This record gives sequence, structure tokens and C-alpha cells, in this order.
Amino acid sequence: MLRYVILLAIAGIVGSIIARRKGRHPIGWFILCAIVPLLIVVIAVLPPLVSKGYTKKCPYCAEIIKKDAMVCKHCGRELPIEMIKVKSKM
Ligand SMILES: [Zn+2]
Repeated sequence: MLRYVILLAIAGIVGSIIARRKGRHPIGWFILCAIVPLLIVVIAVLPPLVSKGYTKKCPYCAEIIKKDAMVCKHCGRELPIEMIKVKSKM
């Protein structure tokens, strides 16, 4: 029984880490993945969201990239400096 609880807790933590990286709600996904561990697959497949302070949208290709990124990993273009400054103030 205890082993099962630990496994569910690990599933929840993994789910919340993936959710956070994708700009989604980590606590919500922690609970969801702890209840239904299969949801880890769902969050791993879901596309990332634009979330304030963690991700932003590339102005060239409209893909979601990390907030601190200066070069888009999808199209390889350098992001305008104004955009980096404005986003980091928020
Ligand atoms: Zn791009």
C-alpha cells in the first residue's frame, strides 16, 4: 500500500514538472497525475502554453519558447531585444 502511495506521489511530481515546463498549472497537474498516473502521457503530449514569467511566443514562427531565450529553438532567429526586456520586467 505504501509503495503504491509513493508511486502515485512520484507520478504527481513528474506530471507537475512537465506541466510547469509547458507553462501549465503545476499543482493542478500534480493532483491529476497522482490520481491518474496515465495523465503524464497526456501532459507530455500537450503543446506548451504561453505563461507569464515562464514562456513566451516567438514573433517569427509563433512557437512557444522559454522566457529567457534569446534565440528561438524552432526557427533559430534572434529575438528582438525590446521583447526580451519587456518580458523580463513582468
Ligand atoms: Zn521562432
